[in-house]
Amino acid sequence: MNRIKISLNFYLNEFECPCCQRVKIDEILLWKLEALRIIWGMPLRVTSGYRCEKHNKEVGGAENSLHLRGRAVDIAVKEEDQGKFLTLAKLVGFKVIPYPKRNFVHLDVGGEGLGRISGDIESRVSNSPELLPFNPS
Ligand SMILES: [Zn+2]
Ligand SMILES: [Zn+2]
Repeated sequence: MNRIKISLNFYLNEFECPCCQRVKIDEILLWKLEALRIIWGMPLRVTSGYRCEKHNKEVGGAENSLHLRGRAVDIAVKEEDQGKFLTLAKLVGFKVIPYPKRNFVHLDVGGEGLGRISGDIESRVSNSPELLPFNPS
C-alpha cells in the first residue's frame, strides 16, 4: 500500500511502522536523507523509521522518541563504516547517535520538547557538543 516513490531513492513503505504499517515522515528528514544517500553513494537501508506508540514501547525507544513523529530514522551501517558515515550525516545537518555494536546509526532532525536520548552512546558522541542530550521539556 505504501509502495509509493516519495523521493529519488526512497519509497514510503521503507519508513512505515512494522506493526501497523502506519507511516509519518518529516519532509526535512526525507530531503536530508536523500542528500546523504547521494553523497554516501550507496543505498541506505532503513531499519526503523516511523514507530507508533505501541511499537516504540516494544523496541524500548525513548518515551518521546522522534521516531514517533517521523523525525528520526535508523540506518544500517557496519561498525567500521560508521566514522565516515557520521561525518557525512552531520555534513547534511543530521543529529546523529551511533550504535557501533549494533551496526546502525540513528539520524534525526530534532524537534521541540525532546527528552533524554537513550542507547549505547559511545564516547565520540559526547565529544560533539551538538549531540549532547536535548533540552528536557
Ligand atoms: Zn505500529
Ligand atoms: Zn533511532
